[in-house]
Amino acid sequence: MVRAIVGANWGDEGKGKLTDVLAKGSDIVIRFQGGANAGHTIINEYGKFALHLLPSGIFNAGVDNLIGPGVALDIDALLKEMGEVLSKGAPQPQLMISSRAQVLMDCHVLMDTYEEERLRDFKFGSTKSGIAPFYSDKAAKVGIQVCHLLDKDVLHERLKASFIKKNILLEHLYHKPLLNADEYTEKYYALGQQIKHMVVDSTQYLHAALKADKSILLEGQLGALRDPDHGIFPYTTSSSPLAGYATVGAGLPPWAITRVIAVTKAYSSSVGTGVFPTKMTGDEAEELRKRGGDAGEYGAKTGRPRDVGWFDCVATRYGCMVQGATECAMTNLDVLSYLDEIKVCVGYELDGTVSMDFPVTPDLQRATPVYETLPGWKTDVKDVRTYSDLPENCRKYVEFIEERIGTPLRMLSNGPHRDAIIYR
Ligand code: GDP
Repeated sequence: MVRAIVGANWGDEGKGKLTDVLAKGSDIVIRFQGGANAGHTIINEYGKFALHLLPSGIFNAGVDNLIGPGVALDIDALLKEMGEVLSKGAPQPQLMISSRAQVLMDCHVLMDTYEEERLRDFKFGSTKSGIAPFYSDKAAKVGIQVCHLLDKDVLHERLKASFIKKNILLEHLYHKPLLNADEYTEKYYALGQQIKHMVVDSTQYLHAALKADKSILLEGQLGALRDPDHGIFPYTTSSSPLAGYATVGAGLPPWAITRVIAVTKAYSSSVGTGVFPTKMTGDEAEELRKRGGDAGEYGAKTGRPRDVGWFDCVATRYGCMVQGATECAMTNLDVLSYLDEIKVCVGYELDGTVSMDFPVTPDLQRATPVYETLPGWKTDVKDVRTYSDLPENCRKYVEFIEERIGTPLRMLSNGPHRDAIIYR
């Protein structure tokens, strides 16, 4: 069985918690794209963790975790994260790294930072983790695969070739110090030696696992609307967070995925620059931001305050569609308990017409959300574990949204902790 957990919206939907929950019944958990630029918050018996690169299955004994070829592997960040996990008393992560994964290096972080500086007011709100320069190098075929790290001469040659153009940009566009291939060779060869024992041919491993009928969980980062092709371009990320890409980024056949679980929040949230139709402002936003998530809506990676807004059926329906969601999971349902009334966006008005179709970015920027208002439930639902025990208005809210997004809401998360989950 192969399942994918992916985001239906802008990211931060609570995928980490659900992966942690579903990892229990899995043999293998895989990260297939992105890098250390986002964070999955997990709260369990060992404490609270913001995982950036480690797959969220690491807390479950007996689960193998894999960093797939599609990931931007920042080895410094990975080793730091592993150290943090161990320092809190969690077991040694069972981690494998694909020999085909590519390495995100200091030069990518530098180029990302300099480019954001250069763009100033027009910047994309990058987390400056080096993601865009990393994926640019991959596309331009000058990236470094993990397998290259293990041969010093090959590594040196590839770095020298990769630095020619970068140094021209550094000198003439950014006016910054140049990169030195010798220094990078020493550093990244040494890091390669540190991770060597975890490096595997993940494609062979996964195909064998599939044959042996293992249960595999693919863990997406960010959300559908950040997809470079189908998202709110250019406010997108540099690799595809879609389930369709998951098999590529992991190394599985496309027909292997049987369940695609798209995660959405009971309200909307988004971090970083972009278009966000149902955005709240003022006190209303501040109140929801303060109450959201496990400790307010602040980016797990950057600490930046997230924009918050009403649930958006148009964006989520589209997100589920491009994900190919077979089901949905809704998180943070408990957060809305304080509201007397809850607005839900049920259409976008554009040029006098109301539609449920999610438009291209320039039209999205002009669209006005159309709302319906539902009554709140004004009861704390954190301890509820059975759907029928939820207040009637809460169930109505869930069912109202389910009908409009056209995907069954099979799991409801009503608290940040692992146990706070309701199955339908
Ligand atoms: P991810 O990147 O999709 O894993 O999402 P993040 O971890 O960045 O953000 C989700 C936030 O919601 C985190 O603060 C989680 O601890 C929190 N969270 C997840 N599920 C729930 C829930 O059902 N209720 C509450 N209150 N917080 C939740």
